[in-house]
Amino acid sequence: MQWYKDKQSFMDANGYVIDDLWYPRVTAIVGIKAKPALYMYYAALPDFKTGEAIKAKSAEEGTLLHETVEAILRKEPVVIPDSVKPAVSAFMDFYGQNELVAHKVEERVVSKKHHYAGTMDVLAELNGKLGVLDIKTSMAIYRDYNVQTSAYIEALKEDPSMPPLTRWILRLDQSKHCLKCPATLRDKGGREKIRGEKGQCQHEWGPMQGEVELKELTTFENDIKAFLACKELWSWENEFWLSKII
Ligand SMILES: [Zn+2]
Repeated sequence: MQWYKDKQSFMDANGYVIDDLWYPRVTAIVGIKAKPALYMYYAALPDFKTGEAIKAKSAEEGTLLHETVEAILRKEPVVIPDSVKPAVSAFMDFYGQNELVAHKVEERVVSKKHHYAGTMDVLAELNGKLGVLDIKTSMAIYRDYNVQTSAYIEALKEDPSMPPLTRWILRLDQSKHCLKCPATLRDKGGREKIRGEKGQCQHEWGPMQGEVELKELTTFENDIKAFLACKELWSWENEFWLSKII
């Protein structure tokens, strides 16, 4: 639950003004959906503040990786920060092995029909298909991403000249692998996390290695229904502030 000091702070925190009209943001709307895994994450930490600090640092690392990869896609000169080098070089391998052309990067999309706006990462042509490519720096591809990306497609479809579009999640990450067992070590937000531990092993960590996972999402009709349901619920939750805007 978030409380706002006034109408302006609600508008700033939850949306954008485009051509003098305020639109709620896709990520704010999707944020209404409960994320049970997040409660488990907070429960495993010493206190709430620790969780917030890790989240902030990890978001910062995610932003850095996004900016670097997007600069590469825009064909801009780029200095690759050391902290994300393994993930970026994994991306470069992927870029070299696939036919990937970015048409739009970090572009605002607006649905006038459903009244929302968002920023998509990339509108791309990938191996002959056109679609929205969303870059994630999480440790897995979560189903919530379907909801977010369907909103971009729905908005883009309002342009009658837009050809049919698909969606992909491109997950970029980096971790160390144990040389003696299947365990991996991930350092996210300044906190080391070991996964896949079996039995007892005095782990011996190899070098940090990048990871790329591409997933095409093919369930648009169901996903957009879920997004519009989120919007309905989000609007209900915020009806006090929304009634002051419209
Ligand atoms: Zn090990």
